[in-house]
Amino acid sequence: MYTSFAPLQKLDDPIVTDAGVTLHVLRLDLYQPLLSGRSFGQPCGNKYFKLKYNLQQAKASGAQQLLSFGGAYSNHIHALAMVGQLQGFRTVGIIRGEQILPLNETLQDASDSGMLLHYVSRGQYRQKTNPDYLAQLQREYPDAYIIPEGGSNVLGVKGCMEIVDHIQHSIDNTLMANDCNIEAYSTIIVPCGTAATLAGIAAAAKNKQVLGIPVLKNAAYLDAEVEAYHQALGVPGCGNWQLIHDYHCGGYAKLSSELVDFIERFQQRHAIPIEPIYSGKMFYGLYQLLTKGYFDPGSCIVAIHTGGLQGLRSMQHKMAQLLPLSDC
Ligand SMILES: *Cc1c(COP(=O)(O)O)cnc(C)c1O
Repeated sequence: MYTSFAPLQKLDDPIVTDAGVTLHVLRLDLYQPLLSGRSFGQPCGNKYFKLKYNLQQAKASGAQQLLSFGGAYSNHIHALAMVGQLQGFRTVGIIRGEQILPLNETLQDASDSGMLLHYVSRGQYRQKTNPDYLAQLQREYPDAYIIPEGGSNVLGVKGCMEIVDHIQHSIDNTLMANDCNIEAYSTIIVPCGTAATLAGIAAAAKNKQVLGIPVLKNAAYLDAEVEAYHQALGVPGCGNWQLIHDYHCGGYAKLSSELVDFIERFQQRHAIPIEPIYSGKMFYGLYQLLTKGYFDPGSCIVAIHTGGLQGLRSMQHKMAQLLPLSDC
């Protein structure tokens, strides 16, 4: 399905009502822009925004090929393969770890979109920002424009600034329930990996409070990264954003029964699919904050559903194992 703008959906939930706030979700998980008259076939969530200006730059530099880095379930690799193909680039994915056959769904999709999968050891993968290693890759793929892991660089952040336009577009073009002054929404909440997405949103929404829920443990270094992105963009010191480090559930891609149980209930209640790596932890954290009375009554919150549902296909089994046995 093609949607030129991501929809904003109101959530009706007693936890939200009891907290005296309103909550809308920006559904980037449904957003599929048209590129060269065609859509991806699968939404790319925030990864489309992170790639947009990187691809423009690649085109301007005359590159024929795009090269980037990711794990075997990477949303970024998946998006790069699809967006690259639609924009007429060949793509190379530097994939962490050994090849495992049959390919998982993520890598099969990438391969079907024409991506060349280049596997490297975990040790080699750790060199992904080392200039010598990048120079070596450039020699191996002379036509390639190299994009960092996750599409996280200043051009990626610049693209993520446009996420805020989608909130505004939806407000301007949809009849919102009038119990909330959505025009004056106060808070945006978003999950964070590298926090490039948060950096873009915070730079574009200077009069909003922007909260990030890091999905990695020990991610205190992210504050400096966001500052550095803002410096590079020329919007230093907005001071309108904050990372809340309490909801990573043990670390990247770590799951707890509590998290999986929350996700099941959330999906049943709202019929909005979420996954346990990013959006699940963001909503889990948000609900904890709501229950704790973190938000001023009357706050109008917009949560960014960043997508990532392609990765859910490989998580179902692990999630089912963590659910309490219901009917036996
Ligand atoms: C990559 C990703 C994120 C994290 O984005 P950052 O810019 O690295 O913080 C969040 N949600 C989903 C679904 C992602 O794929």
